[in-house]
Amino acid sequence: MIPTITISARGERRLQSGHPWIYRADVADARAEAGDRVLVRGPRGRPLGHALFSDRSQIALRMLTYGEQPADDALIRRRIEAAQQFRQSLRIDATAFRLIHGEGDLLPSLIVDRYGDFLVVQTLSQGMDRLLPVVVSALQELVHPVGILARNDPRARVLEGLEQRVDVLAGDVPDAVSVTEGGVEYDVDLRRGQKTGLFLDQRENRAAAAGYAHGRLLDCFSYTGGFALALGRRCRETIAIDVSEDAIRRLRLNAARNGVEVDARVGNVFDDLRGLERLGERFDTIVLDPPAFAKNKAAVAKAVTGYKEINLRALKLLESGGTLVTCSCSYHVNEAMFAEIVHDAALDAQAEVSLVEKRMQGRDHPVLLGVPETYYLKCFILRKLA
Ligand code: SAH
Repeated sequence: MIPTITISARGERRLQSGHPWIYRADVADARAEAGDRVLVRGPRGRPLGHALFSDRSQIALRMLTYGEQPADDALIRRRIEAAQQFRQSLRIDATAFRLIHGEGDLLPSLIVDRYGDFLVVQTLSQGMDRLLPVVVSALQELVHPVGILARNDPRARVLEGLEQRVDVLAGDVPDAVSVTEGGVEYDVDLRRGQKTGLFLDQRENRAAAAGYAHGRLLDCFSYTGGFALALGRRCRETIAIDVSEDAIRRLRLNAARNGVEVDARVGNVFDDLRGLERLGERFDTIVLDPPAFAKNKAAVAKAVTGYKEINLRALKLLESGGTLVTCSCSYHVNEAMFAEIVHDAALDAQAEVSLVEKRMQGRDHPVLLGVPETYYLKCFILRKLA
């Protein structure tokens, strides 16, 4: 018998509203094992589609198909192929980009990033983890990578009862891989770098921000120099700050490699912004690209305070006519909230500020309509008028 999950009337309504997740509380009857691909039935037995089942996570079901369409290996392969073709159609000016963005590519909890000839894969649910062999063979056939690495160390796997591990799944994967983005070369540590090595979701925002960069640049939360190098080429002087020594070490290597001069400092941005203010320093271009301050709902209030603080300090350090590129990757702080925080910061800084561009994660990280969780990155480009 095929593994089957029967859901509640509330669960069925949720599916009808277009959201592809069913929570544990809406599972009425489970006849399936951890990680099975299951048939989903409504409360009166009507088949609603097929899904990945998790017996540990709060998200019990992640829909793959609706109605009668089967969710076999061929479907997974077709979706991987469609994702790849879409990326090709984007004509991305980089050798590193996201090939598969989970729900946004109808492949829930699967992430695949491409770094030149190498692929980095994350399977973040029991069901997708079990499909890893299918995913790997499809990727080999469609992309012909030199090596595939599983960066299966995110914390999210613990909620699924899955191990945190990093494995070479195919071919060879060197310690450092070199990629280009908009004409800048980056050395990437795929095994130990943050995320899968680079913050690929900011690629198009780095390119857009470069169009405004001028004078003295301050890149806060610089990591290995994504913004510092893309913008620094247009600036007279560049200071970059990150709390991670590893990130700053690699930033210095990347800067030397690209012939961009960067004063790269290990430090806490919250302290350093105040320090720069005390010294009376001023900047023409400032980037704020912090980590997600709100990783869950409970952390929102504290996150709002954090975002407000750095935006306020940055607006004070900014010259009139200067550009502030300010980002938030906390899904729990939505676009409207973030706009309000930035406005509050401007009021407190007594700065008159115009919004020049409202941006989001790059096109290789598509948002699925009806799934607000897939829209997480906000990037505003602001101009200080006075
Ligand atoms: N702008 C980068 C990505 C930034 S990710 C790029 O384009 O590549 C966020 C970075 O913030 C991480 O590198 C992390 O080490 C750093 N970070 C986190 N908290 C910090 C703090 N309080 N002060 C300075 N850096 C911090």
